[in-house]
Amino acid sequence: MTLTVHQFPCLSDNYGYLVRDDATGRTACIDTPDAAAILAELDRLGWTLDLVLNTHWHADHAGGNAEIKAATGCELLGPAEVPGRFPVDRVLSPGETVHLGETAMQVLESGGHTLGHIAYFAPSAGAAFVGDTLFALGCGRMFEGSPAQMWASLQRLAALPDATQIYCAHEYTASNARFALSVDADPAVKARAEAVFAARERGEPTVPSTLGEEKATNPFLRAPRLRPGLPPHEAFAALRAEKDVFRG
Ligand code: ZN
Ligand code: FE
Repeated sequence: MTLTVHQFPCLSDNYGYLVRDDATGRTACIDTPDAAAILAELDRLGWTLDLVLNTHWHADHAGGNAEIKAATGCELLGPAEVPGRFPVDRVLSPGETVHLGETAMQVLESGGHTLGHIAYFAPSAGAAFVGDTLFALGCGRMFEGSPAQMWASLQRLAALPDATQIYCAHEYTASNARFALSVDADPAVKARAEAVFAARERGEPTVPSTLGEEKATNPFLRAPRLRPGLPPHEAFAALRAEKDVFRG
């Protein structure tokens, strides 16, 4: 492991992530859902924060930027949609690579939930921080983007290695599992949903998952199979629309 990932719940259903390059001790925070919680975790771990890496402009992802910078002096990096809403020191564009010590983190375009959403993939650690694009057994709502954009973003993530750990920003998995069961009779979906319900009853997180698990059981990645006869992004759009009104 080249990267140590410290994951902790905050707000009502967000996950905070502090990631540390083992070789150099350089530390980044993925999104800033809750400044007080993040600063308390840094203090408890004895880690010094160097970077904030935002995925998108929503307040539960960038709302803590100012307070965390004031407390730590870290550098704030994020997509072009964040400045003007929350402070950013340097704008990141898809295709570039951020270096956290010796760990390279690729910036991936993942728009659709918001137009300018980005994700971070660290190949050496086999870890992807995907914000509100891909969730365990689900995906983000399309607040700003089109189904074609969101589908393309999900396909970009689906092209990563199957063993990639998918660190998403919310614990929505039990509700996602109820929807998945309603649209997909595959035994692998049933088995995973049962494991998810049991984990939540024990108070355990269901995040991270692996990309391989998501490709096998996430209804949105399986959209073309679940809604055959439609172009893939329309199959995706149909399922996303069903989930938007699903009450399970
Ligand atoms: Zn969001
Ligand atoms: Fe969010």
